[in-house]
Amino acid sequence: MNQVITIGREFGSGGREFGHKLAQELGFVYIDTGAMYRTLALACLKKGIDTDDENAVSEAAQSAALDIRYIDGVQHMYLDEEDVSIQIRTEQVSKAASDTSKYQQVRERLVDLQRELSQKYDVVMDGRDIGTVVLPDADLKVFMTASAQVRAQRRYKEYLEKGIEADLGQILKDIEERDYNDSHRENSPLVQAEDAVLLDTSYMNIDEVTRKITELFNAKAGSE
Ligand code: C5P
Repeated sequence: MNQVITIGREFGSGGREFGHKLAQELGFVYIDTGAMYRTLALACLKKGIDTDDENAVSEAAQSAALDIRYIDGVQHMYLDEEDVSIQIRTEQVSKAASDTSKYQQVRERLVDLQRELSQKYDVVMDGRDIGTVVLPDADLKVFMTASAQVRAQRRYKEYLEKGIEADLGQILKDIEERDYNDSHRENSPLVQAEDAVLLDTSYMNIDEVTRKITELFNAKAGSE
């Protein structure tokens, strides 16, 4: 049986960096499922599909030539054999992913892929529904949160570091809106799994979060 740690998190709570570091520490593979939704959203945008058109989006999701590869332990997303790992990080793709990930057929395709990966590797899998829907029997489930203010600050800093102009007030507003949409939608809303450990990372850095989750995992493994 492969080992599985799932990470659920609110938008912008920094799970990607933490998840990657944690997986490295444990020798697991880090799987960022948000990147998969972003890649399907990019496939729609490239085809000029309206993200409100469920049929067209579903069709594109079924037929998209999506691939996930690991290069030096880092996840890369491919669309039609092109590495799109950077292209999927724009705000436009982020918004499109949030809009298209609510459709049943989009989710089904990606959930199958996520389950296949968990059968191949020991994984740290990151995504809202991993602990609740995709891999409910995970060895450890963590749900990460941070205050909307802290998340906005972190994102603002990220933009500045990349030399992108940003408005902190607008980022905060977007985060609050995204929280509302993500937790109120019909398909796989953002909820904490009942048996997940809640971790508020507002005042923790990456190393502290990694240490905490490793401790939780080792304690759990030791008690079984
Ligand atoms: O985590 P990230 O911001 O990259 O995810 C992009 C979008 O994909 C999220 O806003 C969410 O709507 C969707 N998503 C999802 N289920 C997942 C991961 C991401 O619906 N497991």
